[in-house]
Amino acid sequence: MSYHFPTQLYPKKPFVYFVVIFFFLLTLSACEQRPQVYQQQILALGTLVDISIYGVDEAKAAKAVTAISTKMETIHHDWHAWQPSRLTQINAQLATGTQVSLDQAQQALIEKGITLARQSHDLFNPAIGKLIALWGFHSDERPDAKPPSETDIAELLATTPRMSELVLEDGLLSSANSAVMIDVGGYAKGYAVDQAIAELRHLGITNAIVNAGGDLRAIGSKGGQPWRIGIRHPRQPGVIASLETQGDESVFTSGDYERYFDYQGQRFHHIIDPRSGRPAQGVSSVTVIHSDATTADAAATALFIAGPKKWREIASAMGIEKALLIDTAGTVHMTNAMQQRIHFEIESPRIVIQP
Ligand code: ADP
Ligand code: MG
Repeated sequence: MSYHFPTQLYPKKPFVYFVVIFFFLLTLSACEQRPQVYQQQILALGTLVDISIYGVDEAKAAKAVTAISTKMETIHHDWHAWQPSRLTQINAQLATGTQVSLDQAQQALIEKGITLARQSHDLFNPAIGKLIALWGFHSDERPDAKPPSETDIAELLATTPRMSELVLEDGLLSSANSAVMIDVGGYAKGYAVDQAIAELRHLGITNAIVNAGGDLRAIGSKGGQPWRIGIRHPRQPGVIASLETQGDESVFTSGDYERYFDYQGQRFHHIIDPRSGRPAQGVSSVTVIHSDATTADAAATALFIAGPKKWREIASAMGIEKALLIDTAGTVHMTNAMQQRIHFEIESPRIVIQP
């Protein structure tokens, strides 16, 4: 999870303080008229979504927040994986070999899922809904969780559900494989954040940040100051690194701490490796910076599954230049481009750079 916080300046010399205070007093009245950051939290997508808007009056900002709230509510209900939704209808029809008629927005999301799965060499695989359900993650709660049996996992693996088996033509979706069950949990948050930003732009807002439980997209700046955000430490409270966004950027993290259960001293989390049918091993978290949030979200999930040995190759395949992976031993693996953008907030981490 990451969050954003105000940039703080601590000049060391008293003279600097004097100058700062002088100019502060001088410009105080002007400042009061200048637009401030309007910040509002809403409950959406099953998480707290923090919206910050700069440079417009409060009435306009409030209107934008309401529009985002409505949009996210719709996405949440349409794409819910287990509560009755448009998606559960689609899945029920695909399972019986029926063609499903999709509207434009539905087509766009499914199409994007097919593309991202192909780019990730099927490590990002939203067609494995049955496996995700088998592991118990299609439920609001999981009180006495236990891993599924070897036989059940093997049985599902043998059905090889893939997004490439979906056929989408003239708005009609069908599946060549009845074992395909779509679960958009790996990129729906990104999609919702992209839609929120589109809504803001539609209203003429060009400086904002939409932060959905630590995953965010920022546009513009805060009166010329960049938005500053933190990347959550996967094993400690607080942040491991911070960065300043440049223009239009999304920062998404996938972690083994988001949803999991412990069984006999072992952690079983919700990011499933489609090759083994089990939670992906060896990684604590992955953070990706990319222009659009949908891609960043899917890529963070894909690189998590790819693991410390293959993440770089998959990042290239998905067109990702800025990525950071923290393995379960605490070593930070990252690209050159990522290293240039972040500032570590912890003492001397072990770092491996992969250009
Ligand atoms: P978070 O941001 O909560 O850490 P992710 O973006 O990594 O989550 O997405 C995790 C979710 O993605 C799971 O809850 C599940 O719905 C879905 N998922 C799990 N494994 C895969 C996979 N291999 N490919 C695509 N989606 C997956
Ligand atoms: Mg994701």
